[in-house]
Amino acid sequence: MSYLQKHPDVTKSRLNTFMSNGQFKKANIHASLYESRVNGLPHVQMEVWAADGQERPTFEHAVKQEFQLIEVGHSFGLSWSTHWVRATLQIPSEFAGKEVRLIFDPSCEAMVWSAEGQALQGITGGNGQDRRVNFVVTKKAKASETKRVLYLEVACNGMFGLGDYLIGPPDENRSFTLNTADLVVKQVDAWALYYDLDILKQMIEGLPKDSPRWWQALSTANAIINAYDAKDSTTLTTGLEISRKFFGAKSGDATHQVFAIGNCHIDTAWLWPYDETKRKIARSWSTQLDLLDRFPEYRFAASQAQQFEWLKELYPGLFARIKDKIKTGQFIPIGCTWIEMDCNVPSGESLTRQFLLGQRFFEEHFGERCLVFWLPDTFGYSSQLPQIVRQAGAKYFFTQKLSWNNINKFPHTTFNWVGLDGSSVLTHMAPAETYTANATANQLIESVKKHKDVAYTNESLYLYGHGDGGGGPNEGMLERLRRMEDVDGLPRVKQAHPNEFYEHVEKTAKDLVSWRGELYFELHRGTYTSQAKTKKQNRQAEFLLRDLELLSVVARSLGKNFVYPSKEITRLWKLACLNQFHDVIPGSSIEMVYKDSDAIYADVLKSAAAMKQEAVVSLFGGMGLTLASEATGILVANTTSWPRTEIVAVPGLSAQLGAQQVRKQDQAALMVATTVPGCGLQLVNPTKTADAVPVSVHRDKGGCVVLENLYVAARFSAEGQLVSFIDRRTERELVLKGQSGNVLRLHDDVPIFWDAWDIEIYNLEKFTTVKATKVTIVDEGPLLASISVEIPIGEGSKMLQIISLSAISPRLEFACDVDWHENHKCLKVGFSWDIRSDFATYETQYGVVQRPTHRNTTWDMAKFEVCAHKFADLSEYGYGVALLNDSKYGYATLENTMALTLLRSPKSPDAHCDMGQQTFRYAVFPHQGSFNESKVVQEAYQFNVPLIQMPVDMKAASSSAMTAAPYFSVTAAPNVVLDAVKAPEDGSHDIIVRLYEAYGGHASATVSIKIGASSVVKTDIMEERADNLELRTLANGAGKSVVVDFKPFEIVTLRFAA
Ligand SMILES: [Zn+2]
Repeated sequence: MSYLQKHPDVTKSRLNTFMSNGQFKKANIHASLYESRVNGLPHVQMEVWAADGQERPTFEHAVKQEFQLIEVGHSFGLSWSTHWVRATLQIPSEFAGKEVRLIFDPSCEAMVWSAEGQALQGITGGNGQDRRVNFVVTKKAKASETKRVLYLEVACNGMFGLGDYLIGPPDENRSFTLNTADLVVKQVDAWALYYDLDILKQMIEGLPKDSPRWWQALSTANAIINAYDAKDSTTLTTGLEISRKFFGAKSGDATHQVFAIGNCHIDTAWLWPYDETKRKIARSWSTQLDLLDRFPEYRFAASQAQQFEWLKELYPGLFARIKDKIKTGQFIPIGCTWIEMDCNVPSGESLTRQFLLGQRFFEEHFGERCLVFWLPDTFGYSSQLPQIVRQAGAKYFFTQKLSWNNINKFPHTTFNWVGLDGSSVLTHMAPAETYTANATANQLIESVKKHKDVAYTNESLYLYGHGDGGGGPNEGMLERLRRMEDVDGLPRVKQAHPNEFYEHVEKTAKDLVSWRGELYFELHRGTYTSQAKTKKQNRQAEFLLRDLELLSVVARSLGKNFVYPSKEITRLWKLACLNQFHDVIPGSSIEMVYKDSDAIYADVLKSAAAMKQEAVVSLFGGMGLTLASEATGILVANTTSWPRTEIVAVPGLSAQLGAQQVRKQDQAALMVATTVPGCGLQLVNPTKTADAVPVSVHRDKGGCVVLENLYVAARFSAEGQLVSFIDRRTERELVLKGQSGNVLRLHDDVPIFWDAWDIEIYNLEKFTTVKATKVTIVDEGPLLASISVEIPIGEGSKMLQIISLSAISPRLEFACDVDWHENHKCLKVGFSWDIRSDFATYETQYGVVQRPTHRNTTWDMAKFEVCAHKFADLSEYGYGVALLNDSKYGYATLENTMALTLLRSPKSPDAHCDMGQQTFRYAVFPHQGSFNESKVVQEAYQFNVPLIQMPVDMKAASSSAMTAAPYFSVTAAPNVVLDAVKAPEDGSHDIIVRLYEAYGGHASATVSIKIGASSVVKTDIMEERADNLELRTLANGAGKSVVVDFKPFEIVTLRFAA
């Protein structure tokens, strides 16, 4: 008689050995797992054809090629290449009646195709924990099988690409060995017992030692091992009878409920390029279709509309099969957005488009929109997301990334997340702290322990399945979950649609806590800066698309046969949104990905610029447009909604234009455009002398250079630092005595592991200050004064700064051209103002957030580097200074010093990140009044959105139409900004106008429109739900207007009917 000896640690080790595929595999459970196995000829014949270079040919192309015979041991290579294997299988007659599987392990990724060209299942080769090498050839072999043919598309990359230490740059010379190509028959009872034992083993690891269930699990496993005999299959049945008793004990009424959902988080690009992602999607999702058939209780969720769209285009058969599974409710499209985007860098309008494009795709193809905003893996969550989520028709939010915080533990699991404007979304952060869980008992036990809100809600979401080409959940996970549905000692597990989880929480939860404002991620703070060019391209694309849509709407309404290019604009927005993926725009992908994104941005910027030009020509077309070389004047267009007075620089035409000043650096003709109407046009006469008091520049006795205009005087030292900055209107010195501005510091930038991702706090302690070697006066007024500053940096880098001040504004600008060749260094510029405030104000999407300027607590300290959009501002009562930028996102303010992070030089996963030429601009903008009383938001727009200009013949163009009232304007509310004008997505001739309250107060704004509108409704970002507003006709044919009330930071979308 066998009984459990009381030596639990030894028994536990015994169980581990019994389950291990190692030294004792011929005497333990592994000896029973397969009843038959054959390989080689005549059963498995393999031939290969290798595609050229890094080409990824289609099935149709590949099968027509000539194949060569190969054997196990064949080497596939090199990195990123594709090899098609034709496997001709002859199933032996003794397999008749049995399920037969092919075990195919190429040590890399592969796709199994039918001979007819249907994508069947993904393979993840190698010996990682995500190994998936089993393919079911037939569920029941016949007595006399004829030969079967399968194709295997072998991709020479691992699940995580080809880098060392996970994030190392890819090894371009790797090859992969075909390890196995066997036909096998599984011993069904042995596998059943294996899964039972696996759960027992996990419960022994996870349950409190010496609890009754712990002892019961241990004794049950021990009894099964005692009963087992590798040579006698009836002992498997005995083992299963023993385990059945254990698993028959059910959980109690108060047991925690886990809602389990399979998924396969596929990064849309990361350690592999977009084109490989397209195959990873097909491999992973086809794999899941098979499992959904075999496990009817199983539910699988997939996000990112872009991934579905790729599948639809490249694998239409597979897409159709997935649509069928979506109809049955097993395959669940989720997430709302176009891709799982970064939420730091994209603009408000970009986030809106992510939802608009995503929700519309889900509705069009699958019949409904998503309720859950699904973003498990993004590096921080903007405080405006709750409002955008609500306006997109969703109401729930899922993530887990804050579990990676490296300073403070986020205190909630299930809570109401309240955004800037007060909108709230029910939020859940999976307590298992992963989205690639393994469906193990110990993980489920841990997941309950880590739930921080069980007092209010006794349920949680559990996302399991291998990501990134691991193919999602595997058979073992589903076998285990099936066994763990209701077992004493474990939480209860239900496979369910995530909506069901949230709806259940809504119904049953009591007194959930709230978290107000941004979900700041205390890690990956370098992603506001890495891959500088990509961030700049994104900023340019956002503003170019903004101009394009606004101008196209106006051009269309003027009725000059201009056709609004809807289809092309949608294509470009999709591309811009694609590059906002949470490893692309943050700068955390390999070099190959940035070659892809460069090509995409080139397309977006070129196409958008060309279409914008068409719209401009159409707008200006009736105004006597001539050849540029015959120009005598300049027509300017202002796409912001307020009037602007600015210096316009027209390159290349200085001679014939006879302008008041020619800029030295590029020979551009400079002229003043005075009070150009918002969303309107104006003619500028270049020869007209400006009324402005001239700007001047001189070198003082101490060797400093002083730039001075009516508003400010800026004094720069011979080292290029701003040693004095005086507001001449109040004679206030802004630089704190003994300190400076434009201080450039080169910091060490060595993170703990995540190279391109992380700026670490300790690197702030280690830096050198870089100083100019030469300061030269360049332009001397009257419209523009400038100096050039030469600054050697580090070992081999250098910067040329052009610092300029115009006659008409207190804004001091710094244009930088850097030749950057550093290694794990980071360049920051800082300004120390004589301003005292406990917080600084940073622009975020559709608004601002305030963050501390001190490090009182660990929560304050964690924000030592934060994200901002076009500006950050340091204000006290009565005065403030903003630091503007044209493409940077990393800011830090400590006490009175505000710094902007300019460049980084990480070496993984892109070995050449940011090396070479970099250009960018920043500016300081002093203002009277605190931030709330300033025009900083508008100033930052102007710094990023130049006036559009077009050379014209003055005589032909001198039409009164040129100074017509603005096409759109916002009055009576200086805190309301018009952010976008576009045609609606439904193709109608209506006009969508999006505005937001930018400073954090109520407003009652008058929005006027000069182009045809018959009525107006207030709608949401989906452009649908509508509240009627009163459209009034203005006197003198000046158009129509509507009064719109705003709450603080509210996003308002108006829809004007044509
Ligand atoms: Zn990810």
